[in-house]
Amino acid sequence: MKPVIAAKSFEQLLKALHQLSSKYLVVAPTTEDGVEHYRPITQMSEEQKSQVERLSLRNQPPLGSVKPFLFPDSEIYIEFTKKDGKLDVQTPRASVPQIILGAKPCDVVSLELIDKVFLEDPVDGLYQEKRDNTVLIVNQCDEMGANCRCDDFGVQRSTGSADLLMSKDESSGKILLKAQSEKGNILAEELLKEGMEENPVFREPKVPVKEALESEKIQQAMDDFFESPFWEELAMRCIGCATCTFYCPTCHCYDIRDFQRKEQGARYRTWDSCMFPDYTRMAGGHNPRPTRKDRVQNRFYHKLSYFVKNEGALGCVGCGRCGEKCPVGISMDTVLNRIGGEVNDK
Ligand code: SF4
Ligand code: SF4
Repeated sequence: MKPVIAAKSFEQLLKALHQLSSKYLVVAPTTEDGVEHYRPITQMSEEQKSQVERLSLRNQPPLGSVKPFLFPDSEIYIEFTKKDGKLDVQTPRASVPQIILGAKPCDVVSLELIDKVFLEDPVDGLYQEKRDNTVLIVNQCDEMGANCRCDDFGVQRSTGSADLLMSKDESSGKILLKAQSEKGNILAEELLKEGMEENPVFREPKVPVKEALESEKIQQAMDDFFESPFWEELAMRCIGCATCTFYCPTCHCYDIRDFQRKEQGARYRTWDSCMFPDYTRMAGGHNPRPTRKDRVQNRFYHKLSYFVKNEGALGCVGCGRCGEKCPVGISMDTVLNRIGGEVNDK
């Protein structure tokens, strides 16, 4: 086992990973149409590749999270064809091994939160396949990004299920990788064969970790705040666009639909959002969350109260993406600052 390896430069690391792209789908953060997302490096232009180092090593996650590579926005369960009165059903999935370069601690924890839902009985096979097939290379931040609140959520340095940690030695310019799982060890061995070298030390980030908010205190404060007129005010601002849920790395709701054209069709799932009016509408027409206030409340109570009660953890990692993308400026801070009091007294 060779736990710490080094590339002479970020460019060398990208080249070594590129050499592995016949075996792995290698994705990394870049900018596309002005928006930061993870994309396969084999599909990047030279201009996009030149952005990977900055976005992978800076103290802020890209706007798009790693979630779509484990839980895509649209995914087929089965495809079917009718021919000569017979139905031919196929399951087209074939998950390929993938490497995600430049993920952040908030990405690691967001996947661990989704694991709590998708990997518990009954296990979600589509997600599990991709989770098992994914190698996460994670860069810990040295300080907080402008929109980040990860320290309050206790995830600032969390790297539990990361396979390799990555950091830059500023004096030499070397990129250091430290394996911390079996998948990480295997990839480290493969990268050594592609020209990376063993290295005696790994550079740990310097930032001190502050004490996180206590999940039970937030949950209690939220429960005490349920009847506040604040929720009506927030619902008046919200336009119900669901952008917050689609950019959120921990939101995991989906809808299952069938598509058929003539003799062919498919059953697939697509991301859904609790901000849509028909999200909870039942077959008979009854809707237990008929107003926007109900839906706005549900989004925040699910993250800050129900998830604590059901899964023992807050359902938010403080990445700030929802606030950054919300067209009317609603963020986690909007709620946390308002419930204040007991929560801030930690
Ligand atoms: S709710 Fe907002 S801050 Fe929390 S994880 Fe989702 S996008 Fe990030
Ligand atoms: S992004 Fe903002 S406006 Fe859109 S649904 Fe979410 S909170 Fe409402």
